[in-house]
Amino acid sequence: MFFIITGSIIKLNANENPYGPSPQVGDVLHEFAYSDLNKYPPLSGSSLEKAIAEHYGVDEDNVLSGNSSDEVLAMCFRAFFNSDMPVLFPDITYSFYKVWCDFYGIPFEEIPLTSSLEIDVNDYISRDNGGIVITNPNAPTGIDMGLNVIEELVSRNTASVVIIDEAYVDFADISSVELTKKYDNLLITRTLSKSRSLAGLRVGYAIGSIELINALTAAMHSFNAYPLSSVSIKMAAAAVKDVDYFQATVNKIKETRNNTARALSNMGFRLTDSKTNFLFMTHTRINAKDLYEYLLDKNILVRYFSKERIDGYIRVSVGTDEHMKIFIDSVKEYMVNKNVI
Ligand SMILES: *Cc1c(COP(=O)(O)O)cnc(C)c1O
Repeated sequence: MFFIITGSIIKLNANENPYGPSPQVGDVLHEFAYSDLNKYPPLSGSSLEKAIAEHYGVDEDNVLSGNSSDEVLAMCFRAFFNSDMPVLFPDITYSFYKVWCDFYGIPFEEIPLTSSLEIDVNDYISRDNGGIVITNPNAPTGIDMGLNVIEELVSRNTASVVIIDEAYVDFADISSVELTKKYDNLLITRTLSKSRSLAGLRVGYAIGSIELINALTAAMHSFNAYPLSSVSIKMAAAAVKDVDYFQATVNKIKETRNNTARALSNMGFRLTDSKTNFLFMTHTRINAKDLYEYLLDKNILVRYFSKERIDGYIRVSVGTDEHMKIFIDSVKEYMVNKNVI
């Protein structure tokens, strides 16, 4: 078992997986024939793309891998969102969408979440747009949309590409992979950073129609023809193939998430119904920034967002049971100090 405790720091601020990657990833690294590094890796059709296609029951032509889903997403913005019309995404979501729009000079419109911090797809369907990108389940709220809702969005918004960023989807009970077989304008992006515990390897991928994957490949190759290294391809493929380890660690994280949510709820916190590997929590009598700083002082790292509407919340990644016990005990201690309990 590996822990993300470095020194005495408990790192619950980046949604990293507290368990190490599959031991089979280690086997690949140990057995890797380094002499093969004299050759360039395959341009496409790598063993990783094959493994992904097989795992999800799609064709290899429907898969494109890259160095992190951040890279894949950045290429998507270049390939699909390059128009004069605004790209739509929620006002509270993954912060990089805005960064890529600014970087590429793409106009965008941030669509406010509802008062319960949910996405109402009608707000998107009714607007002319140059594309839509939605994290599902959303971050940092953790709330997911059902497949029927995604289908409604994709089927009614046919004039532009809809990207569903499924960075956390393995911790939920949904996946829009099947919808990509039905809708040409839907592209999903995934990462091995969270559920496969490979944030340090930098591997992500997209699944979509052949048309979208070809357009994305063309955009990617205009930058750099050799996106993933030979070592990364083999290690990532091993992680994708080790379904048992993946299931066991994901289930454990979900169990820890649900137990932690229950404990916090009993302490008076209000939590969103998170389907991810993090919890999003608020308390009417607690100043979130103050709690964040208190925890920081105890070497427990969580996320605080100074953004309007969510500045009363703390986002905490789900670590091991031991991490979460220390976290909860420290929050209790804070509450006692502040006379909240
Ligand atoms: C973590 C995350 C990513 C990036 O994943 P990488 O593959 O590590 O770049 C993309 N989107 C969302 C919503 C994320 O949370």
